Amino acid sequence: MNSQKHELIERLEATTSASREDLAALLAAGPAESEALFAAADRVRATAVGAEVHLGALIEFSNHCRRNCLYCGLRRGRRDLPRYRMAPGEIIAAARAAADLGYRTVVLQSGEDRAYTAEALAEVVSAIKAECDAAVTLSIGERAQREYAMLRRAGADRYLLRIGTSAPKLYRDLHPDSDWHWRLMCIHALRSLGYQVGSGVLIGLPGQTLEMLADDLLFLQWLQLDVIGVGPFVPHPSTPLGGAPRGTLELALRFVACLRLLCPQALIPATTALGALHPEGRRMALQAGAEMLMPNATPVRYRRCYPSYPGKTNLVEDAAQGRRRAEEMIAGLGRRVARD
Ligand code: SAH
Ligand code: SF4
Repeated sequence: MNSQKHELIERLEATTSASREDLAALLAAGPAESEALFAAADRVRATAVGAEVHLGALIEFSNHCRRNCLYCGLRRGRRDLPRYRMAPGEIIAAARAAADLGYRTVVLQSGEDRAYTAEALAEVVSAIKAECDAAVTLSIGERAQREYAMLRRAGADRYLLRIGTSAPKLYRDLHPDSDWHWRLMCIHALRSLGYQVGSGVLIGLPGQTLEMLADDLLFLQWLQLDVIGVGPFVPHPSTPLGGAPRGTLELALRFVACLRLLCPQALIPATTALGALHPEGRRMALQAGAEMLMPNATPVRYRRCYPSYPGKTNLVEDAAQGRRRAEEMIAGLGRRVARD
């Protein structure tokens, strides 16, 4: 093994700090060095957050979106996608069903859909909080500070708002109707309102270099996030980036491992996009620093209509089966489901 990279890994494990150049070198690591990197991240995960794996039930309640992000299968410019909206009662019922399966967190996700007012969503959140013993995570994009505040008052605990990339220019190229600085302001606003905040980037975007990904790692560390959700870019054929090369599983796993070494305490999900690249992708991430899974708990009839990227494997598996498969994966790794 390249002893220089081995030293880098040891230093990063001991100090949680590394330069941009060092991180770019680790992201470019070959197979043997990657194994050492994954092992170091797994050790830090075991020491900093333990053997428990957190589970969140993902409910994708609307696929309408007013934005046109170039990579996303839900973008508004896409005409071939049947669109759906779950009624408030349906969302609450899905959350209740997830809580009955043992979930202590539900994640409500959608496109940026203004048909749901903050008032309506606040009622959904407070009903879930009243009826279920569960934390509520929101992932519904950019909203006014007033709306974030209302949802927080209604009981929402956590908010996931991915920034996609730390490079404002690349962000502009990929998000024709969104502003990088504004999105960062939203992240800060959410934190000041008392949310636990999550963000993250896509790995392997067209035009993204290893140096830019190293910057992303340092940026995500600097943000001091509670949750860091990252995944490979998976081209969707019905989008302008449909012909672009996909991100690789190996690079995404190295990114996850570096994240764990930089942010020992963060919640780092093994995201569904990792599973889209390889049937064992999520399990591999759990062995490279991740300690959270978000199985899909959306009613099965809507699943085909929420393909932000292709290759989602769980189009037929219902919430109970998804939960069981996650539990089996966790038990197979000798770990256990977190109860909090
Ligand atoms: N509209 C909200 C949440 C839903 S989109 C938002 O944008 O914040 C959920 C996530 O799916 C996005 O943050 C994006 O990172 C991811 N995603 C979309 N298209 C993708 C693709 N082609 N490959 C990988 N991830 C993708
Ligand atoms: Fe809409 Fe989110 Fe997809 Fe962008 S990433 S098009 S905001 S659903």
